[in-house]
Amino acid sequence: MGIIEENKKFAEDDRKYIWHPFTQMRDWEKEEPVIIEDGRGVFLKDVYGRWYIDGVSSMWANIHGHRNKEINEAISLQLNKIAHSTLLGLSNPPAIKLAEALVEITPEGLEKVFYSDNGSTAVEVALKMAFQYWQHKGEHNRTRFLSLNNAYHGDTIGAVSVGGVNTFHKVFSPLLFKTYKAPSPYCYRCELGLNKEDCALACLERMEEILKEHSDEIAAVIIEPLVQAAGGMIVSPDGYLSGVRELCNRYDVLLIADEVATGFGRTGKMFACEHEGISPDIMCVSKGITGGYLPLAATITTDKIYDTFLGEYKDLKTFFHGHTYTGNPLCCAAAIASLEIFKRHKTLESMQKNIKLLEERLRQMEGLPHVGGARNKGFMVGIELVRDKQTREPYPFEEKMGWKVANRAMAMGLFIRPLGNVVVLMPPISITDKELKSLLDIVEASIIIAVS
Ligand SMILES: *Cc1c(COP(=O)(O)O)cnc(C)c1O
Repeated sequence: MGIIEENKKFAEDDRKYIWHPFTQMRDWEKEEPVIIEDGRGVFLKDVYGRWYIDGVSSMWANIHGHRNKEINEAISLQLNKIAHSTLLGLSNPPAIKLAEALVEITPEGLEKVFYSDNGSTAVEVALKMAFQYWQHKGEHNRTRFLSLNNAYHGDTIGAVSVGGVNTFHKVFSPLLFKTYKAPSPYCYRCELGLNKEDCALACLERMEEILKEHSDEIAAVIIEPLVQAAGGMIVSPDGYLSGVRELCNRYDVLLIADEVATGFGRTGKMFACEHEGISPDIMCVSKGITGGYLPLAATITTDKIYDTFLGEYKDLKTFFHGHTYTGNPLCCAAAIASLEIFKRHKTLESMQKNIKLLEERLRQMEGLPHVGGARNKGFMVGIELVRDKQTREPYPFEEKMGWKVANRAMAMGLFIRPLGNVVVLMPPISITDKELKSLLDIVEASIIIAVS
């Protein structure tokens, strides 16, 4: 078979056999799928040899670029030893070394690492851990969680229960457990109708009202620190995160920080919690943990929580949770290599200049027609398109304005994936200033063409 026939068959067989995630397959079947077979640095290459900038880090995961030499080597070295052994009854050196490294780099007080393999499971583990902690403490009424509107914590039923993105979650509502919902800190579209300049963080007061009344039935507050990512790259105002921490202290409920998207440098610091100097009681990490190479997640918690699970075998205080690939050595080896790159290449320092460059360009883009706002925290960017800048009237959902921009960008060699009317950018942290400029040029041109 020649290369052209082979590629045609790939396209046919994709449509024949694969059901893609978060995808209206009727639309997908009408279009030619882009099939990626190769990558280098921030670039992806399709089967026809066309190159694209990976503008969303292969679903917010990639950190140091594709085909990174050091991570590749670490994985091969481990592969020549063993690909997988279990943590149920056994241990392995990469899992041990990584756990130590994670405890070292995460905020103070987080001392114990519970592995799983994706962001949703990291959240499930956190919810069950928080719930069972209170059971051990004899507070049997603590069966509820407080989460935010516009929250996204994954796609399993527990994670969806604490979610708050109607588009994704509404259909499943009969299946979900009930949670308390506090307002989203979404200043551009404030639920309380206030202005960021003089609201004095009234959304925190709403959270406090719920806690005041119900804290004796709430096991934990769960939030995405600083950026509600899948909800539309919603950046919380300064002081919000530390305010949530204070409320959790005051009303004695646990704080779960879901750093699945924000972790590993994406916001300009290793973890978003560092921006406001807070420590959660439980932290969930995944996406970037292996540099975006392999599926791995961790739920990291305090000794205070861990210790309540200690007891006699017969007491059944054991945390009965675990996944087949928990602590997989290949994944852990990749993660260790990624953390070493952070140290050796001073990744967090060297990205600061590019964050400035990015922010300057975003300020310019805010001047474009139909750009309501361009917000970011480090390399997490959301450009919100609106039909009317004055009234902030959004484009109707069915207009697919975000997709129109993404399709234009694709034709110019940039892969991005929008969230409704929000153009999302989240390039690998390793992107060079030249590459970043190209990315932003394409985004700007795509917006101008799509909205006109
Ligand atoms: C992506 C994401 C998850 C879910 O992670 P998966 O690996 O896709 O299951 C959870 N929380 C946040 C904040 C995320 O962005």
